[in-house]
Amino acid sequence: SRAEVSYFGAGPAPLPTPVLEEASKVLLNYKNGGIGITEISHRSADATAILENTISGLRQLLDIPAEGPDGYQILFLQGGGSGEFSASVYHMVGLWVEKRRKQVVEQLGDSASEEQVLEKLKEEVKKMKIDYLVTGSWSLKASQEAARLVGSEHVNVALDARKANAGKFGVIPEDKDWSLTQNKDDSAMVYFCDNETVDGVEFPAFPSSLENGGYPVVADMSSNFLSRAVDVRKYDAIFGGAQKNVGTAGITIAIVKNTLLPPHAELAKSDLLRKLGLPVGPVVLDWPTIAKNNSLYNTLPIFDVWIAGKVMDGLLKKHPAQASMPRIQGQQDESEKKAASIYGVLDKYPEVYTVVPDKSVRSRMNICFRVGKEDERDAKEKAFIAGASERLLQGVKGHRSVGGCRVSNYNAVSLESVEKLVRYMEEFAQSK
Ligand code: PMP
Repeated sequence: SRAEVSYFGAGPAPLPTPVLEEASKVLLNYKNGGIGITEISHRSADATAILENTISGLRQLLDIPAEGPDGYQILFLQGGGSGEFSASVYHMVGLWVEKRRKQVVEQLGDSASEEQVLEKLKEEVKKMKIDYLVTGSWSLKASQEAARLVGSEHVNVALDARKANAGKFGVIPEDKDWSLTQNKDDSAMVYFCDNETVDGVEFPAFPSSLENGGYPVVADMSSNFLSRAVDVRKYDAIFGGAQKNVGTAGITIAIVKNTLLPPHAELAKSDLLRKLGLPVGPVVLDWPTIAKNNSLYNTLPIFDVWIAGKVMDGLLKKHPAQASMPRIQGQQDESEKKAASIYGVLDKYPEVYTVVPDKSVRSRMNICFRVGKEDERDAKEKAFIAGASERLLQGVKGHRSVGGCRVSNYNAVSLESVEKLVRYMEEFAQSK
């Protein structure tokens, strides 16, 4: 039964059982109206209330202000984390072009013709870069998507962490070794993935070189959303697919600074972007369109928003507000505690287990390790995974691209499940 199984899948991932129990009821009959939650209109009052509840939960948990230039909009989109790889490029490039167009108009003066502005802007666009910190396979994919959309000449891989680690992900070299676009005005954004799900690499903190650095910063938090305190004010945008710590696959959350959206910001018009040879994104990925329509530009899977809201309600209940502490602090403490006990057993048996990433960047969410010495790994890892499965410890196989083992320690993984796993890991190590 569900209660007997401990599940460590990387995403989709476990959800709190009480949320799923309630979900199974509302699927048939929402609020006793005789209509299921997936059947109600996304424009109904019930749907609006669900959206408001989830937004309010997220604002409380991550302390996200709403109003003014320092405020943020919370958007729900579809297309997953991967959709936001593209959305962030479309949007940040559009912002960059508009900003530069204004500068060009100012430089050339009122008498300049539209053609002259366009010619000058074409020259300027050649300098535009998007900076990527490539620390694992997801930021690599995001950078590849940017190159596909705008051309690799505009993509500056400011950091390829593999170069510092014999061709493999697993480290984050110091900021001084990154090569961000020197002229900040030429950078449309600096992009990083806060937690690399496949490689088990997590930024220990916000990169210091981006603090007050003048670069627009966009981060993918798909796999460590709501697991630690985040100072959202340091970011221009944060996004993440819901299917790990937050809810079900089907919605992606984007937290976008007001100053990136109209009326605070103007975006380059699509005909200008086309004339400059730059891409115009699909409207369903367009942050301003989604923001303007309160995430209801098109049919939003309200059930997924409901699930995320219920997960957030659970976190709020579990971690009551405490003076001068971020609301999510309690969850951060729990994640750290669970991760520490798993890394603890891995470090205790270095003859048996090898943690993949460097100690300084070990993910609290996705714990990647190898079992056995190199020549015996295949058999040892198969035995480890089979033994785990026999004890109903599921989902510990590494991502197919890197092999090995991976335990995902998301919020819905209980301390009890972690304890069971650690006991098994002890037993396995001692029996070898
Ligand atoms: N970013 C990260 C960090 C991820 O872990 C994933 C998916 N595992 C993605 C992006 C892509 O998300 P999706 O599958 O929702 O497109």
